[in-house]
Amino acid sequence: MVKDHILILYDNRTDRSDLQPGWGFSALIELKGRRVLFDTGADKLVLEHNAEALGIDLASTDTLVLSHEHCDHIGAITSALHRNLEVFYPASFSTLFQGEVSEEEGWHAHPVSQPVEILPRFHSTGELGKKIVEQSLIVEGDEGPVLITGCAHPGIVEIARVATDIVGKPLRLVLGGFHLYGKKAAEVEEIAADLKRIGVKQIAPCHCTGERAMEFLERTFGKRYLVIKVESEVKI
Ligand SMILES: [Zn+2]
Ligand SMILES: [Zn+2]
Repeated sequence: MVKDHILILYDNRTDRSDLQPGWGFSALIELKGRRVLFDTGADKLVLEHNAEALGIDLASTDTLVLSHEHCDHIGAITSALHRNLEVFYPASFSTLFQGEVSEEEGWHAHPVSQPVEILPRFHSTGELGKKIVEQSLIVEGDEGPVLITGCAHPGIVEIARVATDIVGKPLRLVLGGFHLYGKKAAEVEEIAADLKRIGVKQIAPCHCTGERAMEFLERTFGKRYLVIKVESEVKI
């Protein structure tokens, strides 16, 4: 069966006792026969456990996109690597990372700096941010463009703005870590207003967004807010 969807494999939360929560994020995107893994989460055992429980063979992906070099996003990379995998990561990744995993295993490295088409319907925003450099992924599903973020360190509004410019139309959905914990209520309010202003239709914050910010965003976006955890599937 052909499924065009995003499936959450790794997140801080899950409702199912047969799945494991863990600080980190990983999502599988299946679109038009492509299988793209976005980030890996922190812990190999958690990623492998959840993938197996959800019926996902990690060796069946064709592309891996890594958002940024924090262990809660790339810690489980060795579980995700396999022969012929195309791996897109920010070009500024440290030499430590570039030396730690070896291309001898047959995967192909693609350092990204500028916005780039990764595959048809899949774009990277390119490297954004100054202190913590991060790329985000834009997926052009049949129902509109979806932006997927890791931790959104460069700022969720800034990333959404760049992504909207790249695809030239409003984003149907922004999904992933929004990194808003510790932010004051007024700041979260402003961020919500900015996202609406640039035309974001739906949001699905998870991972590092923070409980209080998520509660506020859920109230503000109402039906346009999707609750996602490990196992959540979003049609694209
Ligand atoms: Zn994170
Ligand atoms: Zn991070």
